[in-house]
Amino acid sequence: MQIHNSVPAYISTRGEAPAFTFQQALLEGLAKDGGLFSPTHIVEVNNTGWREAKYFPALASSILRNWIGDDISSSELSAIVDDALNFPLSLVPLKGEEWKGIYVLELFHGPTLSFKDFGARTMARMIEHYKSHSNERLTILVATSGDTGSAVADGFSGQERVQVILLYPKGKVSPTQELQLVVERKGVQTLAIEGTFDDCQRLVKRAFQDKDLAHLSLSSANSINIGRLLPQMLYYFWAVSNGNFESPVFCVPSGNLGNLTAGVMAHLSGMPVHQFIAAHNRNDFFPRYIAGDNPEFKASVHTPSSAMDVGAPSNFERLNSMMTSDVLRDKIWATSVSDEATLETMKKLYEKTGYLSDPHTAVGIESIQRYRKETGSEHPCIVLATAHPAKFPEIVKEAIGIEPATPRSLMELALRPKCAIPIPATYEAFREAISQNVR
Ligand SMILES: *Cc1c(COP(=O)(O)O)cnc(C)c1O
Repeated sequence: MQIHNSVPAYISTRGEAPAFTFQQALLEGLAKDGGLFSPTHIVEVNNTGWREAKYFPALASSILRNWIGDDISSSELSAIVDDALNFPLSLVPLKGEEWKGIYVLELFHGPTLSFKDFGARTMARMIEHYKSHSNERLTILVATSGDTGSAVADGFSGQERVQVILLYPKGKVSPTQELQLVVERKGVQTLAIEGTFDDCQRLVKRAFQDKDLAHLSLSSANSINIGRLLPQMLYYFWAVSNGNFESPVFCVPSGNLGNLTAGVMAHLSGMPVHQFIAAHNRNDFFPRYIAGDNPEFKASVHTPSSAMDVGAPSNFERLNSMMTSDVLRDKIWATSVSDEATLETMKKLYEKTGYLSDPHTAVGIESIQRYRKETGSEHPCIVLATAHPAKFPEIVKEAIGIEPATPRSLMELALRPKCAIPIPATYEAFREAISQNVR
């Protein structure tokens, strides 16, 4: 992909839809031809002074500005990121010889306790900004394997012109995630789909192509939306600048590959990365691809790191549009971690270092150790800690024998009213539910 200083347009990965501005791509979500919006070129960041920025929102707006263009002014963009990214971000070195040089980038201190708050909150405020100048309404459809739904629901709740419909696979997310999804929120309707996450994604994709639903002006807030992806580049820059790293390894616990794609975009735009590690659970499409196979998408299987239970990663198409397969296979190392190894890593890490990790982050930490063993690499490794351990108390208990303390924000949710409609995983049932619930 080419690198320029100008603001890119956004085109479909399938090449059959017109080029859009950022605003259009954000509001449209998925391109009309079924592809994902990708930038026409990568924006060079070397001149933005990102290494010097000490304050995260300042770094964030200086980088985002280059990708968005001037239909959000500098001061408006600063106000958006100040408000959206107003929670802590930290880089924690692990203790102990075995984990020397491993840093945990804790991305889970936002209101819904996962990294998805970064993208969802920023995106919600950008949409609010664009919509505040018109009378149109927008309906956001979100398929969630756990954390997206609550981040999006929380990010959008209470907005005048946006309504959110959440779909999640009933019984296939942790009880705490479920609590975060079914709690009643203004402007949000939750559908409990009797199927898998892949079923939820399929229903959403089909709704976008359904001409009879065009009047609802549907949009998506999944990681397929470019508006969520761009803010996910920011913490990579922050980590490199904060730790003053020369060329670190980034390990990304992955499912739909949105987080990894954002990291790759940050790297292409000028942020040094020695190598990416794509850390997957038993859903191993991508590790098999990186190993040189041409695997087929499969149905997802359920694991302790359930937010990564994705059989058909939707950002694969976008990642492929940015790099040739050779470069991809060279720049990204990938592995698939079993359920047992995930729990063992949580236990060993806690017992030897006192660090309590959630199962998704544990898949990452185990992957780093494999990577080091196989390649002999001594580069510092930054693992993206994608969720707070308290989101998965049952799994933490199973792995290490104790339950993590419940943060106050979660205790408060338990007391609020709940509302979710169970529906079968058929398009007819889904469409009926949309028609009944969209005002
Ligand atoms: C969504 C999620 C992931 C996977 O991120 P992708 O961008 O879909 O690859 C990993 N961990 C947690 C906790 C998540 O919520």
